[in-house]
Amino acid sequence: MDIGLSNDEIGLQRRARDFSQGVVRPRAAAIDRDAEYPWDIVKALGEAGFLGMTLPKALGGQDLSFLDAVLVIEEMAKSCTVTARIVVETNMGAVSTVMAYGTEAQKKLAAKLVLEGDKPAICITEPDAGSDTTAMTTRADRRGDTYVINGKKHWITGAGVSRLHLIFARVFDERGEDLGIGGFLALREVGKGLTVTKREQTMGLRGMPEGELTFENLEVPAAMALLPPSGFRRGFADLMNAYNSQRVGAGTVAMGIAAGALEHALEWAKTREQFGRPIGEFQGLQWMLADMQTQLTASRLMLYAAARSRGPDGSAFPDPMLAAQAKVFASEAAIKIVNDALQFFGARGYSRELPLERMARDVRMFTIGGGTAQVLRTLVASKMLGWKLPQTRDGYAPKPSMRDAAE
Ligand code: FAD
Repeated sequence: MDIGLSNDEIGLQRRARDFSQGVVRPRAAAIDRDAEYPWDIVKALGEAGFLGMTLPKALGGQDLSFLDAVLVIEEMAKSCTVTARIVVETNMGAVSTVMAYGTEAQKKLAAKLVLEGDKPAICITEPDAGSDTTAMTTRADRRGDTYVINGKKHWITGAGVSRLHLIFARVFDERGEDLGIGGFLALREVGKGLTVTKREQTMGLRGMPEGELTFENLEVPAAMALLPPSGFRRGFADLMNAYNSQRVGAGTVAMGIAAGALEHALEWAKTREQFGRPIGEFQGLQWMLADMQTQLTASRLMLYAAARSRGPDGSAFPDPMLAAQAKVFASEAAIKIVNDALQFFGARGYSRELPLERMARDVRMFTIGGGTAQVLRTLVASKMLGWKLPQTRDGYAPKPSMRDAAE
């Protein structure tokens, strides 16, 4: 199907497909079974030029687009979800935020680390601040030329393997005045106040560590504050806007898993025989195949359109409305497609000898991480209505304290 890709894009897609099938696929089951971060694959991705593709040439990158990254991510996800997520986070997300808002020194640092194989971590979620990010209590206190960060984050992708961390914290100046939420770049160095205090035991994506991070008097030079031109108070929205590229990337991982599962199901439909004929001759399965393909094509078109788009006001990131719709649609469709693909294999689909059960576990997270399907629907509705939709009971007012609530 011609969906308007250029020759260069088709070439990149083909190169990614060969790499995925030749290098990644043979390793995927072991990465899941051993629950170990695949450093060998990271090295191979780097050598093949799939890390830091979207970085500027001046910093060692290739100046490729988010659509280029999406084409590569889709191919990787057909074989291995962990590998696909590494490609997302070395080309989108935190590193793109640094490229958009960082100082020259910050950009150089982030680019060097990514090109050396580091997958930056983005640290927003806290035990009591999930969808409600602004309830975060991690704080950064200004002390002379440094910020001192204290608090706890959890479900941080790459905990214990990432070196560069983009940490979101509530910022206080020297007088203790609350300046709003800001982002800070910190390196994980042993004994320096950034500790992995727990590894989450996850359902899927088992080779990608998710963990709890505790910051205890973590000192970050003031020069490592990531400050959009709008400053700390308004800048949080700009920094979160950068998440739109990550959202497109995450939706693409889900879509790629679904595409991989559908390839397996289609092949099996032609070869497995029951009642003396290939199971693909049964209309019950033919209509399932057609529905799966239709959902997949719709997901792919939405994701490509979102990757090509740009938000209002000359934003360097995909349009928030398109990114949210594409992620909601693709992540929900992918869960259904993978589940149906598993059904094609009968008992074999339920076995750990085939990749379908791993795909079914891996694909489940994409309606949760990076903004849940419910929260993203609220974002879409808010843009449609042209209203802010504060989710607290009393609109914009801060939460009542426990004592107020009891009275
Ligand atoms: P809650 O916010 O407690 O939500 C619980 C339920 O209530 C959900 O169904 C939610 O949709 C619903 N809900 C909440 N508020 C509303 C509302 N206003 N309207 C309708 N429904 C609502 N975070 C990071 O910072 N960095 C990471 O690298 C990272 N990686 C992750 C990787 C994985 C595999 C997973 C699963 C999560 C990751 N997260 C990460 C955390 C993720 O962003 C949060 O899980 C997500 O934002 C939801 O927060 P929560 O889990 O606390 O759920």
